[in-house]
Amino acid sequence: MAIAVIGAGIAGLTAARRLDDTVVVFEKSRGFGGRAATRWYERPSGRVYVDHGAQYLKTENETMRRLMLEELSTADLSDIARPVWTFDADHVIREGDPEQNAAPKWSYRHGVSTLGKLLAASGRFEVRLRTRVGRLRLLADGRYALYDVEKNPLGEYEQVLIAIPSGQAAELIDNSDLPQSERIALQSALQAASYRRCLSIVLGYERDIAPRPFYALVNSDRRDPLAWLAYEHNKLGHAQRGQSVLVAQMGETYSLEQWETENEALVNEVAAHISELLGERLTDFDWADVQRWRYSQPNTLADPSQLNGVLRGLWFTGDYLIGGRVHLAAESGESVAAAIRQSRASA
Ligand SMILES: Cc1cc2nc3c(=O)[nH]c(=O)nc-3n(C[C@H](O)[C@H](O)[C@H](O)COP(=O)(O)OP(=O)(O)OC[C@H]3O[C@@H](n4cnc5c(N)ncnc54)[C@H](O)[C@@H]3O)c2cc1C
Repeated sequence: MAIAVIGAGIAGLTAARRLDDTVVVFEKSRGFGGRAATRWYERPSGRVYVDHGAQYLKTENETMRRLMLEELSTADLSDIARPVWTFDADHVIREGDPEQNAAPKWSYRHGVSTLGKLLAASGRFEVRLRTRVGRLRLLADGRYALYDVEKNPLGEYEQVLIAIPSGQAAELIDNSDLPQSERIALQSALQAASYRRCLSIVLGYERDIAPRPFYALVNSDRRDPLAWLAYEHNKLGHAQRGQSVLVAQMGETYSLEQWETENEALVNEVAAHISELLGERLTDFDWADVQRWRYSQPNTLADPSQLNGVLRGLWFTGDYLIGGRVHLAAESGESVAAAIRQSRASA
């Protein structure tokens, strides 16, 4: 049986790994892992790896524990030993929750995107990168024909698993040839989910900034423009000696208000804000970068039972069905793969 998976994020790749049919995964970008994303920067002092989407991975559920700690290579895996502390809008910094800090916060030597690379490298399925699926067409025999955004055919499949954020899934369904009433039902179920935007700012220093007892700070009262600040150089292998890297993830309101602000003004404003928070001059960064996440994490979720089963052979997975965490996306992928296997067994 031929199965197409649309999206090589952690949900899509986990599902593909758990299916034993002929599976092809289509991914619009150049890499694996989706929002479990890492960028690297060639600096004169050496390469720097920066996780600019998901900040770390948790093995809190059985799916992720088995995948990361038993099935995939652990050679480059490391626990970020330092804790996460909190700050509030008055910039009072406090020790974080000891219980939450006791659980490992995993990253890989070359960033969290290694998880996607390891899943894709398992060789159990094919991944076609730089292929954006633009349309599905339900055929008379119940199979689905797929096309890319330039209308090139991508093959015909008995089952299709849509593993992309809800907004993008809604767009894809809208452009597809599916029976009208089911299309409306799918659109309305997808609309229940919503995502927040997030501006992710990277600030790099060719010097040691002041060491801190924490790895990251999280805004506890959600009243500060800054939601999260991470010391990326505290992750093993991410930076060379003498390099420091901060990742600032901005709150929803600030991200919406400043979405169109040009990068230079944005990084200067954020660096000034961080300097004030930490009481340290951090406005003299040597390099910087900005990522605009239109779909960062879901605010509201959709109900998978209103999507899976609406049309035979058409399935949905992703964090908007379960919660905005990598381990939850993996769990969603694993459970939809089980449902696909079961539907075939009972067919
Ligand atoms: C700024 C930020 C911070 C976060 N922090 C954390 C954290 O600290 N810990 C944590 O656990 N989680 C965190 N998350 C959430 C976590 O990254 C996501 O919940 C998880 O990665 C979602 O996985 P997914 O597979 O559902 O979707 P995605 O990762 O979005 O995967 C979908 C994939 O589909 C591709 N795609 C989209 N449309 C098409 C198309 N038409 N054709 C082909 N391919 C397509 C995309 O390129 C992408 O690769 C964070 C996310 C962001 C953005």
